[in-house]
Amino acid sequence: MTDLGDGNILNITEEDVKEKGNIFKGIVRSYNSFKAGYTKINRNYLSVTLWYNDAFRIGKGITAWLSRDLFREDELGIENISVYRTWKIPDLRENDNWLSRVQINTKFNIAISQETYHKLHRILVLAERKYGKNTGNSLGINEYFDNFKKGSKRLRKVLSTKFNLKKQGEFRQVLTHFNVLNMAKPEVNVIHILYGAWNSNFLPNTIKTFIFKLMSNTLGVGARVIHINENTDAGCTYCSIMNTRPVPLETVQHIFWDCPVVSKILKGVSRHYLGFEISKDEFFGLNFNLNNWELYCINNFLNILKYVIWNNKLRKKLITANLVIQEVDFHLEYIFGVNRKLATTLSLMRHYLITKRRG
Ligand SMILES: [Zn+2]
Repeated sequence: MTDLGDGNILNITEEDVKEKGNIFKGIVRSYNSFKAGYTKINRNYLSVTLWYNDAFRIGKGITAWLSRDLFREDELGIENISVYRTWKIPDLRENDNWLSRVQINTKFNIAISQETYHKLHRILVLAERKYGKNTGNSLGINEYFDNFKKGSKRLRKVLSTKFNLKKQGEFRQVLTHFNVLNMAKPEVNVIHILYGAWNSNFLPNTIKTFIFKLMSNTLGVGARVIHINENTDAGCTYCSIMNTRPVPLETVQHIFWDCPVVSKILKGVSRHYLGFEISKDEFFGLNFNLNNWELYCINNFLNILKYVIWNNKLRKKLITANLVIQEVDFHLEYIFGVNRKLATTLSLMRHYLITKRRG
């Protein structure tokens, strides 16, 4: 590597390490975005391209402009697009002033519209305001290389582009989740629905966090917390309140399904909402004969139900079917206010399931 980048590690480009494979390329790419995003060394934001530049990630909308609207092939010409994507801030400045639209069009022999110019100008001004000042936090090169220690997040991220570790990781997570529940792994489409749910934008953050923890096997059930803190009680909260002796271990399967308090309530609650008593495969694995959208809707409903059970456990409050129904209704009303389509489907699908179950 010593002869690369004229002997300066900071000058090595993706092109330099092209032959060395994706891991090196990934590291260099990662460094470039780090350089743009986290350092202000030598006003480096001036030396990186506008196209896909992390330094310009000021807001979602502005990034979208850059990638979708600003470098439009119909305005810049498809044969030249790659050239314009190498634009840097200094290319668009003269004597400390931004070039006007006419000047840009003349200099590069193109014809960008007033609208595009307006966007471009706004991005440049914002970027310079944010990165031009030599104030604020700035990470150094050593801290950056610390990110590449064995087992670090950033290194794993870079490696994942080559080995697709992310997919395998998700796979392991899924296996663990269903092993814990003593269930077979559901179909791929169902896994996608189950694991995508935490990201639904109409859900309150508390519910999103809950789903994420549940599906990634990090929910603080007693059986798990005892490994971290020996002073906690590994027994089921509901069974403890009911004075069940001995207190069963609080596992995911227990607190959401096996617990006598919960299982009795689930029967009543699922009869109330669905018209039948839900099975374990249906409750955890969406084992219904429904299409993906319908499964998505019912999964949202089941997640809310699970959340209500969990939230009352955290509050050490004994639940009744009526209390759960009341709280689930409260969350559903809020969500249906944001997503009418989900409300409509859920009620249609409910009728379909009831009819099918009753023959
Ligand atoms: Zn219990």
